[in-house]
Amino acid sequence: MKFGGTSMAGTERIRTVAKLVAREVANGNEVAVVVSAMAGETDRLVNFCREANPRYDPAEYDVVVAAGEQITSGLLALTLQAMGTPARSWLGWQLPIRTEEAHARARIADIDTGALAAAMAKGEVAVIPGFQGLMDDGRVSTLGRGGSDTSAVAVAAALKADRCDIYTDVDGVYTTDPRIVARARKLDYVTYEEMLELASVGAKVLQTRSVGLAMKEGVRVQVLSSFVEGDEAPKKGTMIVSDEEIEEHQMERQLITGIAHDKNEAKIIVTRVPDKPGAVANIFGPLAAAGINVDMIIQNVGREKGETDVTFTVPATDLIRSIDLLEAAKDKIGFNRIISDDKVAKISVVGVGMKSHAGVASTMFRALADRGINIQAISTSEIKVSVLIDEDETELAVRVLHTAYGLDAD
Ligand code: ADP
Ligand code: ASP
Ligand code: MG
Repeated sequence: MKFGGTSMAGTERIRTVAKLVAREVANGNEVAVVVSAMAGETDRLVNFCREANPRYDPAEYDVVVAAGEQITSGLLALTLQAMGTPARSWLGWQLPIRTEEAHARARIADIDTGALAAAMAKGEVAVIPGFQGLMDDGRVSTLGRGGSDTSAVAVAAALKADRCDIYTDVDGVYTTDPRIVARARKLDYVTYEEMLELASVGAKVLQTRSVGLAMKEGVRVQVLSSFVEGDEAPKKGTMIVSDEEIEEHQMERQLITGIAHDKNEAKIIVTRVPDKPGAVANIFGPLAAAGINVDMIIQNVGREKGETDVTFTVPATDLIRSIDLLEAAKDKIGFNRIISDDKVAKISVVGVGMKSHAGVASTMFRALADRGINIQAISTSEIKVSVLIDEDETELAVRVLHTAYGLDAD
């Protein structure tokens, strides 16, 4: 069982969580619980780091931000004990949850479950702070924002759990963010592949890595709400399942499964780049070397002889660094100037159905055009079409597309 920030936000909410855990124990299950920091806490801690040192050391950042989950894991263990349910906390370094690669966005390498399984077998609930890990050099690490989802799936995989229930503040995965579109519909089932794509284009209900890991390890994941009244049982949420399994449950698949938006990208235009072999490599080489993820890319047809503009997007947090790197390589690349814009949003439609259907993209372009929404860039994959638009038009675009693909609830 994993509980997110809103589920853990304060004594009363934690008591509700403890009751949900005790209910599973009463049903005869052995339970490991992964918890997030209280809602808003991680943001608060990140801000302290920024105030202390704008160019903060990621290893010290991890020391600070990992603290939020330590508090809630102890509090949940205390609350369970108060209700007569044996429980103890297991911090990331105590298990340990071994991680590798970079601080602030570490990847789980392996989890030692010996002590954990033994404690659970004797009837003790194991409460594990999400988000935390331990580097090889003995230092604390964190898994990147939203990383408690990944902690939960990794613990479930390591324990060979029957299920990984991810409790949050909505009662499942919807056709789009239900806080933006009131007529969004809850999905009973969604495939790993679609959920992976939805998460990676901005549906923040699950961290992308957690879905990739669940798919790889075959973990059965359910997304459901922790917001229950009194002692009532939680309502069935959304099951994330394989392609084969969804066929059994659904006679007819929708063409589009969901729509997501992402306001965390920024657009860069490099003007008057020489239109010759190697020019694009010179632009993206330094960005790749710095670990900056380039997403959408457009190279225009040369406007004057021998020159072209190259447009692409990077994470908004990497915008300044990207511009610095490009300016530093100006002589080698040979461009005229850099134009940037971080007031953009990426809107994506996702669905396995589009593998075998034409016209998905044109429906999107037509629906946006009818509302006067201008498209600045486009990218596609086998099961996704994304467009870049003005950030102010995000909500309108998501609503319009939700209707255009027939996803609105009655
Ligand atoms: P937690 O703190 O439990 O990890 P998050 O805030 O990370 O919760 O994720 C839950 C939120 O994800 C919801 O409140 C909702 O606004 C947002 N969300 C975005 N896209 C979707 C979607 N397609 N279905 C459900 N929720 C979504
Ligand atoms: N508390 C961390 C965050 O806010 C991890 C999580 O909640 O998943 O990003
Ligand atoms: Mg989350």
